[in-house]
Amino acid sequence: MQKGTIGVTSENIFPIIKKFLYSEHEIFLRELVSNAVDATQKLKTLASVGDFKGKLGDPTIRVSVDKKKKTITVSDSGIGMTAKEIEKFINQIAFSSAEEFLEKYKDQANVIIGYFGLGFYSSFMVSDKVEIITRSYKRGAKTMKWTCEGTPEYSLEETEKRAVGTDVILHLDKDSKEFLEEARIEEMLKKYCKFLPIEIAFGKVKEWKDGKEIETDKDNIINDTKPAWTRKPAELKEEDYKKFYHDLYPVSDEPLFNIHLNVDYPFKLTGILYFPRIKKNIEIQKNKIQLYCNQVYVTDSVEGIVPEFLTLLHGVIDSPDIPLNVSRSYLQSDSNVKKISSHITKKVADRLNEIYKKDKVEFEKKWDDLKLFIFYGMITEEKFYEKASKFALFKNTDGKYFTFEEYEKIIKTNQTDKNNTLVYLYANNLEEQYSFIESARAKGYDVLLMDGQLDTHFINHIEQKFSNSRFTRVDSDIIDKLIQKEESLESKLDADQQNDLKSVISGPLPESKNFMVLFESLKEDDNPMMITQSEYMRRMKDMSALGGGMDFYGTLPDSFNLVVNSNHPLILRLAEEKDKKVSTNLEKLKVKIKPIQDNKSELEKANEGKKEEEIKQEDKDRIADLESKIKELEDKKINILKEFGKKNKLVKQLIDLALLSNNMLKGEDLTRFVKRSIELM
Ligand code: ADP
Repeated sequence: MQKGTIGVTSENIFPIIKKFLYSEHEIFLRELVSNAVDATQKLKTLASVGDFKGKLGDPTIRVSVDKKKKTITVSDSGIGMTAKEIEKFINQIAFSSAEEFLEKYKDQANVIIGYFGLGFYSSFMVSDKVEIITRSYKRGAKTMKWTCEGTPEYSLEETEKRAVGTDVILHLDKDSKEFLEEARIEEMLKKYCKFLPIEIAFGKVKEWKDGKEIETDKDNIINDTKPAWTRKPAELKEEDYKKFYHDLYPVSDEPLFNIHLNVDYPFKLTGILYFPRIKKNIEIQKNKIQLYCNQVYVTDSVEGIVPEFLTLLHGVIDSPDIPLNVSRSYLQSDSNVKKISSHITKKVADRLNEIYKKDKVEFEKKWDDLKLFIFYGMITEEKFYEKASKFALFKNTDGKYFTFEEYEKIIKTNQTDKNNTLVYLYANNLEEQYSFIESARAKGYDVLLMDGQLDTHFINHIEQKFSNSRFTRVDSDIIDKLIQKEESLESKLDADQQNDLKSVISGPLPESKNFMVLFESLKEDDNPMMITQSEYMRRMKDMSALGGGMDFYGTLPDSFNLVVNSNHPLILRLAEEKDKKVSTNLEKLKVKIKPIQDNKSELEKANEGKKEEEIKQEDKDRIADLESKIKELEDKKINILKEFGKKNKLVKQLIDLALLSNNMLKGEDLTRFVKRSIELM
């Protein structure tokens, strides 16, 4: 029997394996099974080129658990190892600058394992003793047994003859009992080995017979050795793609369509990506792509590896160029991974374009489910934007679809304002914004429906892309203001009347919201009053609600404009009613204000052109005194107008109608409105 010391330059690799690699213990099984797969494939290759002349037996790799002995065994019929090879491959973990490296990455099991080629040694994460029993395919090779108890010492001896191949036997340590549970091992095999290219058996298939579960003599095969992505697209039918999708995600809805990736150059990449239906909430959709390296599962969290928006896709990506045992940050900076990622972006865009070109009607049907994905990509990936802007669609409030180019043509003549800006009108709620959509339509304008989760972001994004264009929500102003054409009409109410009516109207306005009363000279048949919210304010608030880092806007109260049509007959009637009711009182106040105002003007005139310090204190006091008197009288005037407004049914009715068409009249106010309407009839 040979005894020796494993060639580690750092004093001892085992404490490191045990201590620092705690977080990812279960990968030991992946490492051992992939070694077994490699060994089996190598033997197959040797046989096919005639370098191995023996009989190729059953290549099945067997994983078994012995609860009594507390062991896990992985057996293969692969190439095996000679004593010399054990020396070379197992004993000499040769590495340079080990200490420095270990210090740096001590928390990242994957990096260390990858760096040192410690695949096999990861078995010491869960075992206090590991045995290898192996016989090489080489003629005359002896069956060897290697034993190591988690110290740098090992033993190597000849043992009872076995068939060509290798058994790796792990004697689990006391902290790793969980791995003696069959269910746990099966779960790990299904996670990491589900698509390995050599059959992996774990026990026997069980069956229910006479109320009892019995073992059949059929191997319980864990994996599908020829998963769909490894086959040629020409061999596969639509059902095969669907079936594979359901194998991956048993509970997911049917996908929209798929892309079969099959690249040979400049790197190898295979895979199938599926477009899921994404209606709402992109977050829960993320991270369903599984990454494989030669059919060995690497990770299902591809964030940072593929562009953000592609994480919404489902499916599998497999590339031997994706480094298996490295940390996420390493993966992200790896140049192969970067190339793969931009290649996939391109493929995805090309595929969408192809589907769009092939059948526009079909594409339109799928658009609502695809839109979030495509807009997400367009916002976040410039390359994708360039391609997608050819097939991305706008949907209008009639449910019709247009490409960006088509839509621009349609609205160009009618929706260009006097400053030559093309105005895109949109709504995000058909019901609530109904009256605004209608008034836009009455003008022959078209209104887009932008009600998706990312639409506010998307609008901000394309506004910067489209030249001389502006997006504005239909209810952010009266329609003539949204798309200003010729100069506005003359107002039938003069400034004084408008000023009075402002107070009258603010009397009955609800105090819970901030309203600004504005007058516009519109056409007689436009609405008498309308409520709008500024596009800018609303967008900022929307963005802040989405978490766009604009919390300041989120804290502002909602504020609205109440636009009064100063040419509407009802508004003119309101002005008349006001004059009738309160003009005598207002006149009296005016008479009182007049001399005070004159007095003040006189004083101001006398001091005109003087610097602040040259004006006599006496005059300053006097002016201030007069001002407060005027203010007092003005307030009285405003109060009279407000009181008039509060009692006037017409103004209340007009305000309520405006609130009603904005879906803002609710509860008690609504009941009161109904009552008042009946009375008025
Ligand atoms: P890696 O697989 O990354 O090379 P490992 O530490 O897992 O690193 O294995 C080291 C070497 O030991 C392998 O390259 C292979 O030559 C040999 N080896 C490991 N397991 C087996 C096996 N089951 N059969 C034959 N050779 C094996």
